[in-house]
Amino acid sequence: MIDIKAEVSNTLSKFPSLRVVEQNTNETTLEGEIHLKDREFGGVYDAYNVRIVIGKCFPKCFPKVFELEEKIPRKPSRHVNPDRSLCLGVLQQELMITRSGIKLIDFINFILMPHLSRETYREIKGFYPHGEYSHGWKGILEYFYDQYQTESPDEVMRILTAIIRNQLPGRMSEVCVCGKKRKYRKCHRIAIEETLKLDSKYLIELYSGLKLYLDDRNNNI
Ligand SMILES: [Zn+2]
Repeated sequence: MIDIKAEVSNTLSKFPSLRVVEQNTNETTLEGEIHLKDREFGGVYDAYNVRIVIGKCFPKCFPKVFELEEKIPRKPSRHVNPDRSLCLGVLQQELMITRSGIKLIDFINFILMPHLSRETYREIKGFYPHGEYSHGWKGILEYFYDQYQTESPDEVMRILTAIIRNQLPGRMSEVCVCGKKRKYRKCHRIAIEETLKLDSKYLIELYSGLKLYLDDRNNNI
């Protein structure tokens, strides 16, 4: 059993722009702004007013998220479901990610915010980053492309493998695990520290899912 109240209060402490608007035995509803921050400079570059409904199946399912100002047009091509909630991924992927339970804060950081930032990009540029924003494992791979500033699945997997196997450099002057032969400190250290904030069980599931997806993709070429 998860303590939903503790989960919520932990989340609100990191996201003070959200507040609880309703809480009963079946659901907890949060509302407020999600601020998208520039990774490098820290400034807020966009904000979305959202309602997050945490249902009974949480943490084994994603909360439902509604964007309240219709900044995102209500159509399937913009990943909005018929019930007007945001389509945050295909069911199979959601089940895989939530198998051992997802933390609310990881959901916001790892699923919701990347989704919204892609919508902002889509709005400004007229197309999704890396082409159409993909769901499923392809979308997760694209997340890591962004995170590690690469377009190479091998590089992403080398980094994730080192994280999972606890083989990160002990000293900052050692070479990075990505294979680029640059010093860890100047290469992926900061990005890897971000990844390390994820729940470790969850990270292992992401890793195995991505590996299967990539093996499959290689076999089908
Ligand atoms: Zn590196």
